[in-house]
Amino acid sequence: MKPGNRLLEQTGTTIFTIMSALAQEHGAINLGQGFPDIEGPAHIIQAAADALYDQRNQYPPMTGLPELRAAVAAVNARCYGLEIDPLGGVVVTSGATEAITACLMALINPGDEVVLIEPLYDTYLPLVRMLGGIVRLVRLEPPDWALPRAALAEAFSPRTKLLLLNTPMNPTGKVFSAEELGFIAGLLATHDAYAVCDEVYEHLVFAGAAHLPLMALPGMASHCLRIGSAGKTFSLTGWKVGYVSGPAPLITLVSRAHQHLTFTTAPNLQRAVALGLASSLDYFTALAARLQAQRDLLAAGLARLGFAVLPAQGGYFITADYSALGYSGNDHEFCRMMTMQAKVAAIPLSSFYVADAPAHHVRFAFCKQPALLEQALARLEHWRA
Ligand code: PMP
Ligand code: GLN
Repeated sequence: MKPGNRLLEQTGTTIFTIMSALAQEHGAINLGQGFPDIEGPAHIIQAAADALYDQRNQYPPMTGLPELRAAVAAVNARCYGLEIDPLGGVVVTSGATEAITACLMALINPGDEVVLIEPLYDTYLPLVRMLGGIVRLVRLEPPDWALPRAALAEAFSPRTKLLLLNTPMNPTGKVFSAEELGFIAGLLATHDAYAVCDEVYEHLVFAGAAHLPLMALPGMASHCLRIGSAGKTFSLTGWKVGYVSGPAPLITLVSRAHQHLTFTTAPNLQRAVALGLASSLDYFTALAARLQAQRDLLAAGLARLGFAVLPAQGGYFITADYSALGYSGNDHEFCRMMTMQAKVAAIPLSSFYVADAPAHHVRFAFCKQPALLEQALARLEHWRA
């Protein structure tokens, strides 16, 4: 038999699926894959259910329902003062995953250089490679995940087409500061490069940090494609509704990619998400406050058990160094052992690096109800004893 696509043959099953399956097999509490254990807001779910009986189950417009595009533009203005054209400046996608794919398809020609920042979300690298992009990696290191400015500047060249930026960042919980974003903006302007901004955790930012879209910086609106996800914003990860905002010429290309990928996204979910995005700002504040309390609970508990817990300013995850627990095996072995013996699953941090990952770090999801986090901590304590 002839081989299939070489790059896909080299791509394994994602670590999130692997660890979720292992967690299920061993009855472990799953603090691996990031998904909340509560339902999203009841009125949004009800709106999606009602919309199914409202005679609008055929193909919606290719770039998204007008009411959702208008809601995306309005929330961009309300939260960040961004001016987005609801007609030509927004595309609705089937999740941020499709949005990332469509944005990369929209911009990359084979041979273009793409700057990626490690630790990186698992879809970025295979997608860039499949599109023929040449990857330039820049590394962030624990414990502070500081942006290495000189290395980043060196990664840019006249061949740089784009930078993929994830803030708030998975898996580190880092929220890029205004100064860091300013430095990045300078590089993009100097090299006339674009940024694809994965901002799926934009509304999950904790006290002491603030999310600033790169697009909001002076001169950056024409350089950036900004991606959001209803899955994260409304705790409905299975819905897979994403949206891209940006300048009309780029959005035209993104929508051409989208027309070949999925063409449209379920209309009832789009209608419900439009309703959700019109929520008062109190909704977003309460969501972040709840997650912050869950982060604090898990971080304090892990620290009591001897993990060196790193700060997380946003998102669903904290990372921790387990060396002080006295185990010297690698992070994949540690996560397997913890899942099978302690019955608590996490994700090895090395999954987010191409090579030479920082040793002995794991990622825990805290987007779970306090009682479940307490139960996971009790299991870990018992295991340690
Ligand atoms: N980007 C990052 C950084 C993520 O953590 C996720 C979550 N799975 C996604 C993109 C994908 O989001 P969606 O579920 O909307 O496709
Ligand atoms: N973004 C989620 C995480 O990082 C996983 C999504 C997925 O499984 N593809 O855990």
